[in-house]
Amino acid sequence: MQEFDIIIIGAGASGMFAAGRAMRAKKSVCILDMGLTPARRVAVSGGGKCNFTNMHADTSHYFGENPNFTRSALTRFTPADAVNWVKSHKIPIHEKAPGQFFADDAQHIVTALLSDAHSAKIFQNTTVTAVEKTDNKFIVTTTEHKKFTSTKLIIATGGMSYAPLGVSDIGYKIAKQFGHKIIPPRPALCGIKAKIFDTSLAGISIPVEIIIGREKIRDDMLFTHFGLGGPAIYRTTVRDCMSGFTINLMPGIDAYDWLREQKKQHGRKQLKTILTTKLPNKLAEFLTHDTRNIADIRDIELQGLTTRIQQINLTPTDFSLFGFAGAEVTRGGVSTTQISSKTMESKLCPGLYFIGECVDIAGDLGGYNLHWAWASANAVEI
Ligand SMILES: Cc1cc2nc3c(=O)[nH]c(=O)nc-3n(C[C@H](O)[C@H](O)[C@H](O)COP(=O)(O)OP(=O)(O)OC[C@H]3O[C@@H](n4cnc5c(N)ncnc54)[C@H](O)[C@@H]3O)c2cc1C
Repeated sequence: MQEFDIIIIGAGASGMFAAGRAMRAKKSVCILDMGLTPARRVAVSGGGKCNFTNMHADTSHYFGENPNFTRSALTRFTPADAVNWVKSHKIPIHEKAPGQFFADDAQHIVTALLSDAHSAKIFQNTTVTAVEKTDNKFIVTTTEHKKFTSTKLIIATGGMSYAPLGVSDIGYKIAKQFGHKIIPPRPALCGIKAKIFDTSLAGISIPVEIIIGREKIRDDMLFTHFGLGGPAIYRTTVRDCMSGFTINLMPGIDAYDWLREQKKQHGRKQLKTILTTKLPNKLAEFLTHDTRNIADIRDIELQGLTTRIQQINLTPTDFSLFGFAGAEVTRGGVSTTQISSKTMESKLCPGLYFIGECVDIAGDLGGYNLHWAWASANAVEI
């Protein structure tokens, strides 16, 4: 049995970052990971450019039963800290949108994580199957029946999303074993299956507004063969979307007022032709088959069309999430109620820590999830 100060399960973003901190504190560290290479999600993140932080990272960009849980960790590891860490490794970065920071190459971030954790013992291709605790020591067993022991155990096993990169529910199982509550995991930052639009629209992307609860999301939406995707939908799925939401295909204007104005000014034009001045042709055709000139269309009919354009209500029976396979993150996981927000330590089992995506915290699109991985790892009491 090999003995260490700290065992980290998961060589992903949060596990590797925590290992780097532990190295600086001169601890002996072992990282166990089921995959062939470390930080595989980091390597593919941001389309290979790794959107590693966002200057707007505060509690309002995180979702779960208690987003305020993130406050303490976010205060102690700010987006500026993330940028400074990346710069300290001389990694070229760029600000794609205001506040949204990317590396020029995600592989540089992987290299930085490995360099910080250089003297940790990393066991790849090593799947953890069980954990037990005796005499204040954790004993971790892997598929090859190898055993490792430590006084601190950090669970950094990620979520259930993007299964092709290797996922397991061991983090949730260990949490449950020590009495923790699990919020049922579901896919987030993903597309949805919905049959409300025609598949002939697949490939079209338009700016929309999505109203979800009291929030309005303005972003691009993509029509797909199975339903809808694009950033507007991704951002909707990380929020509390399961009881429904409303899509407005013409954000920023009152379509009814606009249509009546068109009727006054261009009465001899076909309704469809008028719609194509604001929407792609195929979408205009989908919304109306009416071949009449707009002057011949009653206002009440224009009102009906306005509702079809600006108030597309998706009720829970109208859609389903596309699934874990293509989802960028997981909503749900180890409940924050029994974890210290200051140290990420279990309130039920001293020495046990949960960080990153395995915790019931999911961030918005835009670098917030990796920022949570760094910030939660930084919060661990090493
Ligand atoms: C395609 C894609 C693009 C993304 N792009 C961005 C982006 O640009 N910006 C952003 O902020 N976020 C992005 N994300 C999300 C971000 O990558 C994750 O939120 C983040 O990597 C989570 O870090 P983590 O350490 O919690 O988990 P992970 O990085 O997923 O690491 C978990 C590790 O645990 C290991 N593991 C699991 N079970 C076991 C077991 N039983 N035994 C041993 N090891 C195990 C896994 O092999 C894995 O290596 C993206 C995600 C995807 C899928």
